[in-house]
Amino acid sequence: MRVLITGGAGFIGSHLSERLLNEGHEVICLDNFFTGRKENIAHLLTNPMFELLRHDVIEPVLVEVDRIYNLACPASPVHYQHNPVKTIKTSVSGALNMLGLAKRVGARILQASTSEVYGNPLVHPQTEEYWGNANPIGPRSCYDEGKRCAESLMFAYHAQNAVDIKVVRIFNTYGPRMLEHDGRVVSNFIVQALKGEDITVYGDGSQTRSFCYIDDLVNGLVAMMDSEDFTGPVNLGNPNEFTVMQLAEAVLRLTGSSSKVIYKNLPQDDPLQRQPDISLAAKKLNWAPTIELDEGLVKTIEYFSSRPGLGSKAGT
Ligand code: NAD
Ligand code: UDP
Repeated sequence: MRVLITGGAGFIGSHLSERLLNEGHEVICLDNFFTGRKENIAHLLTNPMFELLRHDVIEPVLVEVDRIYNLACPASPVHYQHNPVKTIKTSVSGALNMLGLAKRVGARILQASTSEVYGNPLVHPQTEEYWGNANPIGPRSCYDEGKRCAESLMFAYHAQNAVDIKVVRIFNTYGPRMLEHDGRVVSNFIVQALKGEDITVYGDGSQTRSFCYIDDLVNGLVAMMDSEDFTGPVNLGNPNEFTVMQLAEAVLRLTGSSSKVIYKNLPQDDPLQRQPDISLAAKKLNWAPTIELDEGLVKTIEYFSSRPGLGSKAGT
């Protein structure tokens, strides 16, 4: 098949590109390089089945494809809050453009939605039936509401134009190729530990997240795209829940770093708890993550250790 991946030069998109090429598909990677890097896909550029398109999803594009993974959108709070209007445009106009394309060429389309649609959840763990508790005007709203609107557009095109849609709600995912200065917690803690800098825990570190290793997520994305008669939304994430402080301790233990933990203010509207209920994904996609936090962190630490200036145990 010919597959379009928007945001294909980003963290998740580059791993997905690799996976689809390995399966024998043709991949068109579309990216404006806001948070993506050529480096993430440099090793794919010589593959005749891979094509790179510098383009912004807020502008329409016409390419003949069978499938579309719509991943274009900054995912780190630091990046999506940098230009909130642009984030909304990327989510909303991007989804409109990709749905218009899917309708026109008859492609199946998968939307990368997020656990953020649940906001600061009052139901725990979060099931797909839960409608969420999102602040429509807070600092995270450009992302949360943009993604909620994108979901709404997906279901509207499905109902109105019979577009073949798939919606996945991704929970915190980590692994190699995250940006060093991305601002997300796993990359921040690992980079800080490797540099021997203070580990910045926001709030008292008791807030929880559930961390999914990239390979598990890619398996879930592909399983969802390949599924029949199932639109979702479906949660994809690792249900093992950790406090941010437990994550800091794990990173310190696995890097052997002597960095100290310091506390900073908890950002506004930072969700206190997050854990996916993945029974729907298990039932419909026969999917569950297999990589434990320690194992995934070791691989991620290995990656960051190979980056310039982050040599192994720099902080010890
Ligand atoms: P990322 O920032 O590494 O990747 C996003 C990619 O989209 C980048 O390559 C960026 O340059 C590109 N992009 C951004 N705006 C664009 C635009 N207007 N036009 C074209 N390209 C654009 O983030 P990621 O972690 O790989 O996330 C990929 C998708 O998965 C995003 O839609 C994100 O919302 C979603 N998601 C990720 C997580 C996670 O934990 N990583 C969690 C929930 C949802
Ligand atoms: N966090 C932290 N220190 C950091 C970066 C993040 O304590 O240096 C916390 C953040 O406040 C949140 C959690 O880690 O509670 C996850 O943050 P991230 O930005 O990775 O993703 P989110 O799940 O909030 O979108």
